[in-house]
Amino acid sequence: MKQETAIVHLGRETASAVRAVNPPLVRASTIVSDSLATFRKGYGEKVFDSLRYGRSGTATTFELQRMMAALEETEGCIATTSGLSAIVAVLATFSGPGRHVLVSDGVYGPTRAYCEKVLVPAGTDVEFYGPADDIKARIRKDTSLIFVESPASLTMEMYDIRQICAMAKSANIPVAADSTWGTPVFFRAHALGIDLSIHAATKYINGHSDLLLGLITGTNDALEKVRAQCDLNGTHAAPDACWLTLRGIRTLSVRMRRHQATAMELAEWLQNRPEVRRVLFPALDTDPGHDLWRNQFSGAAGPFTIELTKCDEASFARFIDSLRLFALGTSWGGFESLVMPAIPHHLRNAEQADEGRLVRLHIGLESPDDLRADLEVAFAAMTGTL
Ligand SMILES: *Cc1c(COP(=O)(O)O)cnc(C)c1O
Repeated sequence: MKQETAIVHLGRETASAVRAVNPPLVRASTIVSDSLATFRKGYGEKVFDSLRYGRSGTATTFELQRMMAALEETEGCIATTSGLSAIVAVLATFSGPGRHVLVSDGVYGPTRAYCEKVLVPAGTDVEFYGPADDIKARIRKDTSLIFVESPASLTMEMYDIRQICAMAKSANIPVAADSTWGTPVFFRAHALGIDLSIHAATKYINGHSDLLLGLITGTNDALEKVRAQCDLNGTHAAPDACWLTLRGIRTLSVRMRRHQATAMELAEWLQNRPEVRRVLFPALDTDPGHDLWRNQFSGAAGPFTIELTKCDEASFARFIDSLRLFALGTSWGGFESLVMPAIPHHLRNAEQADEGRLVRLHIGLESPDDLRADLEVAFAAMTGTL
């Protein structure tokens, strides 16, 4: 089955019992068993979609988990309360006193904050590495995890995932990736060698900006310790979020292709605007990460960053405040366009931060013509030519 077909047909196993197209939403805390044998079976086996207690999921959760594992071409999936809780579960599993964890620079801000404010004080040696750094030279005897997010949040640098995975494999170290930007449509995480692929399903997978959900995929072996971590911490997602995500995901492949087409069109147009110094988007052939992107992704998602030419605070505010279709808000991955001043965590104290102003755009499903017109008005307001 091609992926487009799988997105439509998987995750509907429980629908036929109620003769509906969509699977029913099953909410439960207590799960009741018809016999002692059934009760024991739920707890006794290494089966991850066995009914035990609401925290480990209901039929609704299992539908989404099975579907996501299939889309990611692997065995298992854990649904958690948010993208951040999924990242935290993975980092917490492989960290601890005396352990060394390698994390790519420019990871999602809250991922970095968790490393710096929780892992480091608790005794983990967290080392950040850049896209040009030699991973092999950084791997140590006590390295317990390599975490990568590519492209980097906000600054969009690409990492050589194949190379990172090859180095990690020869040293027997697991690699976890934040795969949110690529989605399973454009990014085959496990085929590239990643052991644990993490998605903020909050973004494109749900696609409607109305819930938080994290998904972690991998083989059952790779997931074993993470499952235990989630069980100990009660990190599991609510069935409601899984059910809405099963609705949202049906259009994922269509949405991604449209996000890509409009993002490409606007990025190319923005590149030639006098108000824009730089467009940070690996899908552009002028981007330093372009070859890595071509090599590892089959498409590009809708968020990218632009660097405006130097402007004062008042002009910058006029630019942001004049936008009508680009709503001012964090996040991305919904059907709608968004804009946000981007202050990358790892550049926060650096001089680069006040040089050019970085703005993160999320290109939604609107007409590219309308989005371009919206930006044109905002540029005119910014430069005072309106
Ligand atoms: C939004 C996001 C997250 C966090 O997801 P939440 O569900 O909002 O917690 C993690 N990684 C990336 C790359 C994101 O964009």
